[in-house]
Amino acid sequence: MSTTHPAGKSGNGNGATVAVDADSANPRAPAAAPVDPEFYGDHPALDLLNTVVQQDGAPVDLWQSDADVLRWLARQHFYEPGEAAPRIKAGALLAAARRLRDTVRSAVNRRKARESVDIGALNGFLMEGRRHLELVADGQNGLQTRERYEANTPAQLLAPLAESAAQLLVDGDFNLVRECEHPDCTLCFYDRTKSHRRRWCSMALCGNRHKVASFRRRQQQEA
Ligand SMILES: [Zn+2]
Repeated sequence: MSTTHPAGKSGNGNGATVAVDADSANPRAPAAAPVDPEFYGDHPALDLLNTVVQQDGAPVDLWQSDADVLRWLARQHFYEPGEAAPRIKAGALLAAARRLRDTVRSAVNRRKARESVDIGALNGFLMEGRRHLELVADGQNGLQTRERYEANTPAQLLAPLAESAAQLLVDGDFNLVRECEHPDCTLCFYDRTKSHRRRWCSMALCGNRHKVASFRRRQQQEA
């Protein structure tokens, strides 16, 4: 499989420094069957953090099985579902993915707070990665190279994601890593807008919730 590694854009944004501090210590399982999370993070490492969402004031983990994690990795193009499914112990991928998520959340929070990051924890994931280049014909007598990752263990499956997170920690502008401004939302994103004034995880969700609430408040005041 091939992956790209979107690096955080560098720049001098002056965004507010809201901590990405979703309480992920013990997120509960969703009441209904979990839905696949939308990708509002604009960076895979932030989409990773966004697999824990706030519902009714409590954190809910949208990852409840190995299959949830595998599907998420495929949607992020970190894993090609057509390839032979890795044989791993049941629950091992879920456990490793949650560990990586905790590691990345802690590192992102510390980068935002300009504190030193425990690099050993993420290096533990990085050292498990096995990749090599291969040549691919592009169908027009041209050739390209692409990276192939081994995917035989949970850590190998997660390695490209861990690499993407490492790249964010190195290259990212953490003024642009922010949390959605809606008080009931903890989703975070990399603000790639030109003006660096992005406020919401999604205009359609929290932006709209905010608009509706402001409209109601105005109506009440006028009544
Ligand atoms: Zn939001």
